[in-house]
Amino acid sequence: MGGDFLRDPIQFIKGVGPVRAKQFQRLGIVSLEDALLYLPFRYEDRSALKKIVHLSSDQIATVCGNVVSAEVIVPRRKHFKIFELTVSDGSGIIKAKWYNQPFMKKVFKIGQQIFLSGNIRTNPYYGTGYEMENPEYEFVDDGKDQFIHTARIVPVYRTVSGLGQKTLRSAMYHIVHYAVPKLQEYIPEELVERNGLVAYTDAVQNIHFPEGNGVDVDALNQGKSGYHRRLIFDELFCFHLGVAQVRKGVSEKQGIGFSAAPHLTELLKRSLPFTFTNSQNKVIEEIFSDMAEPHPMNRLIQGDVGSGKTVVALMAMLRAVECGYQAALMAPTELLAQQHYANIRNLLDGMDVNCALYTSKTREQKSRPDLVIGTHALIQDDILFDHLGLAVIDEQHRFGVRQRALLKGKGVNPDVLIMTATPIPRTLALTLYGDMDYSCIDELPPGRTPVETCIVSESEKRKVYDLIQREIVSGGQVYVVYPVIEEDSSLDLRSAELGKEKLKEIFPSYRVELVHGRMNPDGRQQVMLEFRSGDIQILVSTTVIEVGVDVPNANVMIIVHAERFGLSQLHQLRGRVGRGRRKSYCVLLAYGVPGDDAKRRLAVMEKTTDGFQIAEEDLGIRGPGDFFGTKQSGMPDLKVANIIRDRSVVETTRREACGLLNLSPHLDQYPLLRERVNRMWKTKLTYFNTY
Ligand code: ADP
Ligand code: MG
Repeated sequence: MGGDFLRDPIQFIKGVGPVRAKQFQRLGIVSLEDALLYLPFRYEDRSALKKIVHLSSDQIATVCGNVVSAEVIVPRRKHFKIFELTVSDGSGIIKAKWYNQPFMKKVFKIGQQIFLSGNIRTNPYYGTGYEMENPEYEFVDDGKDQFIHTARIVPVYRTVSGLGQKTLRSAMYHIVHYAVPKLQEYIPEELVERNGLVAYTDAVQNIHFPEGNGVDVDALNQGKSGYHRRLIFDELFCFHLGVAQVRKGVSEKQGIGFSAAPHLTELLKRSLPFTFTNSQNKVIEEIFSDMAEPHPMNRLIQGDVGSGKTVVALMAMLRAVECGYQAALMAPTELLAQQHYANIRNLLDGMDVNCALYTSKTREQKSRPDLVIGTHALIQDDILFDHLGLAVIDEQHRFGVRQRALLKGKGVNPDVLIMTATPIPRTLALTLYGDMDYSCIDELPPGRTPVETCIVSESEKRKVYDLIQREIVSGGQVYVVYPVIEEDSSLDLRSAELGKEKLKEIFPSYRVELVHGRMNPDGRQQVMLEFRSGDIQILVSTTVIEVGVDVPNANVMIIVHAERFGLSQLHQLRGRVGRGRRKSYCVLLAYGVPGDDAKRRLAVMEKTTDGFQIAEEDLGIRGPGDFFGTKQSGMPDLKVANIIRDRSVVETTRREACGLLNLSPHLDQYPLLRERVNRMWKTKLTYFNTY
């Protein structure tokens, strides 16, 4: 029988049908398995029946009684109708009301026995007795032994307009009822025992329609029941089994073993004006030993802003070149590509290495460049490499899986190095980028003093001007970042253009220039070059300078409307200063009264400069779904697990998955488990393996 019936569409289940199947699709539910993994977001305990005489107001309760009357009432001088039901259980009577639904009268018959669940209020008119507004109801048919909406712990699902809670719940009931008897345990018994997991079928049944007496509603509501734990474990376990297969597929592929006597890399190392930090050395070692293997490297390099990733990447690229291959570096913005190009040309001065820059605007014609640096222009169809050995992707969260894959496709199984400055907690990295090896540059070059950060309100602007004046006089340079270029009357935001004019008036003896994303690349490059060379003292910009820009002499960062920016963006912006020996400052200029989240973000910035701590806080404020890169990682969506909340399970399942694959590399003894992994990874595995 297997588990593959779980792929079947829900359409054929009783109570669903083609029309509802369409509505379910809007919730992301197509197959039976999708439905089983669509968990209630809360539960209501309607299992305890109350006698009407024992009710009190402002509580949620369920009663069972007979219909005494059912009538539509039209209040005088009001423009609506009320359908009113009166129910008695022998101990008392209660009224139920529905507004503007006169058709409900047809639903009920006098004498019929029903359940009602809802919030109890004191009847405002009669002074005595109770009523419920829009309660949920269910008929007590003879012979019916299961109730769906009342007289039980009732699941409440998130729904969409057009699909009522009751309809959704009924359909889920039938789906669960159909599927549960067919489900089989598919995780090896030792694992179930060792991890204290509840049985799979129990978990599915009870997470949707809890049965039996011992069910803890609070635990269910907090997502902390044993049933939740089981389904979370399963999902993460299967996730890791898939990840391991992806990695294995890559490691078995034929790739390039880079082996030649190092000369360019040695030359670069000797000519640098600094020595590598221990951390850089360690990561370079890891990369070189990967590159020497005859299988494609797939490695993520993480390092906080300013940790010196660029030279590390350059070492890797030169390693490819000295072995007779080409290397490419893809950056997310024109500005960054230009900067990398200028930097690298500078570092390679006097070496026999041919460098080219490809962006949508610039394309230097070179017969066969050794190094190609560019934007996503690199992945256009007409760009061909004859021997691409290494592809480096900078600031990877700006690119999706597809773009990564296209760059790889420019060579034959080239090595891949991916760099990110978004500090990701390790567990998260191992999960999101589980298909990659992971290196971290966890040390900043010596001699950097932490950036001094302060929050300043509009009324204290004078202080900001004083700071700018003082720092420029002593030889520093200033960034002023605005959220928008032009004033827009619909948004009450200060703009970069007006800001520039204002700063020119205040500082007539300094050069103030503007860069923004809509400028032509030549003009932008010109401004950046003049800022870098010190001809410009104050650079006004939008967030185009957010990632990667490196001007070590710049030491003041003013962020206007700081309350508008996200934490990782603020951290990136601040990372533009504090790159040289000069003491640096970051001013967070906030307008108006910031909201609670904005206040928290600014406070975090003031408290710490540690990117990892900032990332943790960011996750706390935003949640993982929203976190940079999660949507672009190309991994299957996690439906029940949350890698932040369930961090410890992430670790455990990773270990268990590796252990099991050591014993049974192809899961031959566990066909049901293999089916689930395949369902979860569907086309993703082939996707990863093709490229
Ligand atoms: P990021 O990791 O943010 O991309 P960069 O590669 O731009 O950082 O490096 C930031 C600055 O630090 C650059 O000016 C670079 O030349 C310099 N740098 C890199 N490594 C070292 C080192 N080991 N010692 C001193 N300065 C270094
Ligand atoms: Mg960088």
